[in-house]
Amino acid sequence: MPRKASWATKRERYNRAVGFPYLQYARGVFRPPRLEALFLFVTSACNSLCRTCFYWEELNQGRDLTFEQLEKVSASAPPFHKLWLSGGEPFLRKDLAEVVELFYRNNGVRALNLPTNGLLPRQLETVLDALLQRCPDLVIDLNFSLDGLANAHDTIRGVPHNFEKTLATIELAASRWRGVRRLRRNVATCITSENYRELVALGLNLLRDSPLDGQYFEIVRGSPMDPALKQVPREELASLHRTLMWLHEKYADRLFAHLRSPARQLAKAYYLGNLKLHFDLHEKNHYGPSPWPMPCTAGLTTIVIDHDGHFRACEMRGKLGRLQDFDFDLSAALRSPAMRTETAAIPHANCWCTHSCWIHSSSKFSPRAQLFHIPWAYLKHRWERLPRTEARELERFAVRDAPLLAPAAAD
Ligand code: SF4
Ligand code: SF4
Repeated sequence: MPRKASWATKRERYNRAVGFPYLQYARGVFRPPRLEALFLFVTSACNSLCRTCFYWEELNQGRDLTFEQLEKVSASAPPFHKLWLSGGEPFLRKDLAEVVELFYRNNGVRALNLPTNGLLPRQLETVLDALLQRCPDLVIDLNFSLDGLANAHDTIRGVPHNFEKTLATIELAASRWRGVRRLRRNVATCITSENYRELVALGLNLLRDSPLDGQYFEIVRGSPMDPALKQVPREELASLHRTLMWLHEKYADRLFAHLRSPARQLAKAYYLGNLKLHFDLHEKNHYGPSPWPMPCTAGLTTIVIDHDGHFRACEMRGKLGRLQDFDFDLSAALRSPAMRTETAAIPHANCWCTHSCWIHSSSKFSPRAQLFHIPWAYLKHRWERLPRTEARELERFAVRDAPLLAPAAAD
């Protein structure tokens, strides 16, 4: 008698058939909030001088957690899915690959967010080769920072020839890991008062010339070194976002080209709906706090560890304690009175922000956001594009031989 397929086997078959693990994802949405992402400032060392940097007062101070301390953190942490690295420039940390591997092996991390200024191509090559080989199930988002065309980028980030050097590193990554789908190469762009007018040009150039998987945009946040960079007029930001959605559509076509229909359309709608929701929340919250359509799960689904062992619920709120005082036991820090007080305070704190990492992380635990707000944002995006459609694009729908308006009857 044929054996009945287990739930896991059925799920695998379904995923293979549609080309995307929707069932797995949908199941995750209905989980109660629990740790799913660790934000680790893996070093405070940095070779840039970005005026956008919200961590600038902490940089190049030394006191980075040692590998042995991070081993204790990993050994005591519950399983979680995603590791977001931050810094400093992560590639300045010599044992970067070993640190990631630690969380991959001990905690089941399968998604890595790895930002870089792109100034260290040799280190980048070595680390990524090691990670791809030693962590076979790890999906990596490698995010290169580009904040404008050459002059604006170099001026904002304080490094001469930064723009051309980062482009060269993007090219290197493209040729070395072409076709490696689990290494997604993206550009992350910070929108500021000095660059917002040229970001469409930057986006179009990158889309045309660089083999990227995506470009993501964040309005400058927190308390940057140069606060004047935050002065982007509201209407200009909204207008820029509307244009950038067109760019996201092009990247969505690229990103999901391997999926079969209708999974491709579904993935694309979900992706664009998410991005539109993020843009809407950026526009609302850059100028003052405005509630998100879902609770913020900072401190419940995420924890931030600073380079020196301080921990926080999110990057925008204050330090809650030091892991040193818990012998680097992350579970104990998560259960600590300070963290409990913080997570109880957040719903009433009116600290709504523009931070996409937390918008994304929080929306993943909200059935309301998943089932209503993201699809609704996608529909809004479609409707917003309709009135701006070029007249010549509409001409192909014209009925040539039958006038749409009947000629007026002769008197
Ligand atoms: S934004 Fe990143 S690259 Fe720039 S100074 Fe800050 S840590 Fe360094
Ligand atoms: S809304 Fe923003 S600032 Fe407030 S807790 Fe969430 S991530 Fe932090």
